[in-house]
Amino acid sequence: MIWLVLILLAFVLAVVFFVRPVRRVLVTRAIMPVLARTLPRMGETERIALEAGTVWWEAELFSGRPRWRKLLDFKPKALSERERAFLDGPVNELCRMVNEWDVIQRGDLPQEAWDHLKKHRFFGMIIPEEYGGLGFSALAHSAVITRISSRSVTAAVTAMVPNSLGPAELILQYGTDQQKRHYLPRLASGEEVPCFALTEPGAGSDATAQHSTGVVCRGMYQGQEVLGMRLNWDKRYITLGPVSTVLGLAFRLLDPDRLLGGAEDLGITCALLPSHLPGVQIGERHDPLGIPFQNGPTYGKDVFAPLDMIIGGHGMAGKGWRMLMDCLAAGRGISLPSLSVGASELALRTTTAYGLVREQFGLPIARFEGIEEPLARIAGHVYFLNAARHLTLGAIDAGEKPAVVSAIMKRYSTEGMRSVVNDAMDIQAGAAISRGPRNILAAAYASVPVGITVEGANILTRSLIIYGQGAIRCHPYVQKEMRAIAERDLVAFDAAFFGHIGHAIGNKLRAWTLGLSDGAWSRAPVSGPAGPLFGRLARYSAAYAFVSDAAMATLGGTLKRKERISGRLADALAWMYIASAALKHFVDDGQPEGDRPLVEWSAAHAFYQIETALQGVLDNLPNRFVAWALGIVVFPLGARRRPPEDRLSAAVARVVLNEPGVRERLTADVFRPPADEPGLGKLEAACAKVLAAAPIERKIKDAVRAKKIRDIGGCELLQEARRAGVITEAEQRLACDAAAAREDIIQVDSFDAAEFLKLRR
Ligand SMILES: Cc1cc2nc3c(=O)[nH]c(=O)nc-3n(C[C@H](O)[C@H](O)[C@H](O)COP(=O)(O)OP(=O)(O)OC[C@H]3O[C@@H](n4cnc5c(N)ncnc54)[C@H](O)[C@@H]3O)c2cc1C
Repeated sequence: MIWLVLILLAFVLAVVFFVRPVRRVLVTRAIMPVLARTLPRMGETERIALEAGTVWWEAELFSGRPRWRKLLDFKPKALSERERAFLDGPVNELCRMVNEWDVIQRGDLPQEAWDHLKKHRFFGMIIPEEYGGLGFSALAHSAVITRISSRSVTAAVTAMVPNSLGPAELILQYGTDQQKRHYLPRLASGEEVPCFALTEPGAGSDATAQHSTGVVCRGMYQGQEVLGMRLNWDKRYITLGPVSTVLGLAFRLLDPDRLLGGAEDLGITCALLPSHLPGVQIGERHDPLGIPFQNGPTYGKDVFAPLDMIIGGHGMAGKGWRMLMDCLAAGRGISLPSLSVGASELALRTTTAYGLVREQFGLPIARFEGIEEPLARIAGHVYFLNAARHLTLGAIDAGEKPAVVSAIMKRYSTEGMRSVVNDAMDIQAGAAISRGPRNILAAAYASVPVGITVEGANILTRSLIIYGQGAIRCHPYVQKEMRAIAERDLVAFDAAFFGHIGHAIGNKLRAWTLGLSDGAWSRAPVSGPAGPLFGRLARYSAAYAFVSDAAMATLGGTLKRKERISGRLADALAWMYIASAALKHFVDDGQPEGDRPLVEWSAAHAFYQIETALQGVLDNLPNRFVAWALGIVVFPLGARRRPPEDRLSAAVARVVLNEPGVRERLTADVFRPPADEPGLGKLEAACAKVLAAAPIERKIKDAVRAKKIRDIGGCELLQEARRAGVITEAEQRLACDAAAAREDIIQVDSFDAAEFLKLRR
């Protein structure tokens, strides 16, 4: 009898849950309104921001079951001959013209550099050749900014801004034919210098809180009465603003008299205005931590502009926010990641050289274990940041606008730069702190907070954007569920909701089994050292997908306000992306033995960050029972990952110090100044001499130890070594030369009191 009841019950449940028409009526109809109530309330601007751009590889990581072949088969574009020639020609020439110390003292780039930037169309890298621009790929655009950043932050920001979110990009994407024909050639040639003014005193991170307004009205323009807007604005922090000839402006467009026949408040609108219009005020400058790129406020008082100055014409009135969000979806992945990698490569190149040249306690400082640790961190960061940069640029060149990935790149590459530059400062110590022509790192150090703040300040980007957008856009079901709820589509909701349940159950099983084997039971896409690392990452992907679903299910709409939780979920997603990029980079390069410590360090660091982030979510999830149950699934044997081991960190330090090929490859984007230039030029030359003289110094040390000669130090010791036949005359010269170069390189700048007071700081 009991069996009969059980069979009957199973049958009823099967009908209720597996016969879709029945399920919809009996189950889904009841669940839909409950879920609708838990969804976060979303304003129009938020919805536009969330829907901007495309989703790409990060969606695979989010799914819990990444298809590694998709990643490995993806072939990013390479630089063309023309792009390579531009890097070797005009970019290197520009780098030779701009010495950052000199630029800081002038408070601006030299006129020669401005002319060069314009003549060689640096401002038109993203503008197609048909409009007179360079029509570069994202990869080339990034390569240019990376190289310049390794030389002069001021020049890099100046070249970067016209090619990132701003007039050229907006006109290209949305401009009318007439605007394209008029502006693009002028922007490409530098005849027009653009800026883009969005930020206001009351509208920083919350850029939608615009107080700048344009009121639709009739007015006189070039002797004719036309329909236009009366604009008033107060903008600040605008890069290139003080020297701009055309001003991209974001403002709220109002039409109180309904002259356009639509709503009174049309919303955020973007226009491109000549800076010479009456009422436009530019020229004042801010001082961004002493880095003298042009940056300042702009004000507009009753500026009249015809409606056709709206980017895209008056049909695009009120569409400004969507335009900006779409452009940012790709642009964020290029500008600041390039600057961060340029500065990081510079830090690695100088720190390795300085560490080999600078001696304390009778040894080059790079040989101390204490120094090896930050040095390995620098090298590891350079490796994975560059890998992630290349992967992202590849996606953009393939036509993606990967909004979540771009936000990840912006946030984690600028934070990476902060870590790298701080470590490099610690290693170079007093030499990095004392500013002057010899200093190599001070400008990069000062520029760190700029990168952290612009294009979406990092705290907000981490807590609000990456996971906020990722959870909705990358998740295979959430957006479908939300859409079905909004459209009250029971059939679509039923499919999405039960698909979601199946997805979560699948990820739970996968996370648990892969957790037990630490990823070993996942099929690796390649053999060799990278294989097990893919397995571990597959494990984290499944764990992430399951934890993320549980956080959404238990917190619902309140997850939006739980920024500590969403920040950690952003961390885990970002580090999965970075780790996958590093593994792809290694595999694409043919898994070279020399890079093995670098990829292993990168993976160990990323895995530790992922586990820490997931553990942090579990430790802080308000529903403690769910947190406990999640722990059993995702960490069946406990959270055991640790930061990269000392053995690995030592191997990384050794490889970048002892393998010139690896160091060269890791810092290939750095501009090489002439060997007689104070700073990097002289440091590199000194390092080469010191390394060449190292075997000679070893012979001398051995002779001192064997008491063949006395340790009297300096050139006398070399003389004595030659007299004793320990070294030849040529070797004495070489060693003496190296000692002089070392002596020179450890000097820092000093100024007499009067000179000091005149310095621009
Ligand atoms: C050197 C420089 C150049 C710039 N160039 C331009 C330009 O060319 N054009 C332009 O329009 N703007 C430009 N900006 C402006 C830049 O984009 C803004 O500074 C940035 O958006 C942050 O605004 P804010 O400085 O007012 O900081 P705030 O908005 O006051 O933010 C302060 C802190 O609060 C955090 N925060 C804010 N909201 C949240 C939240 N909901 N959750 C968690 N944390 C939050 C932020 O992350 C930040 O850490 C520039 C700024 C600088 C410094």
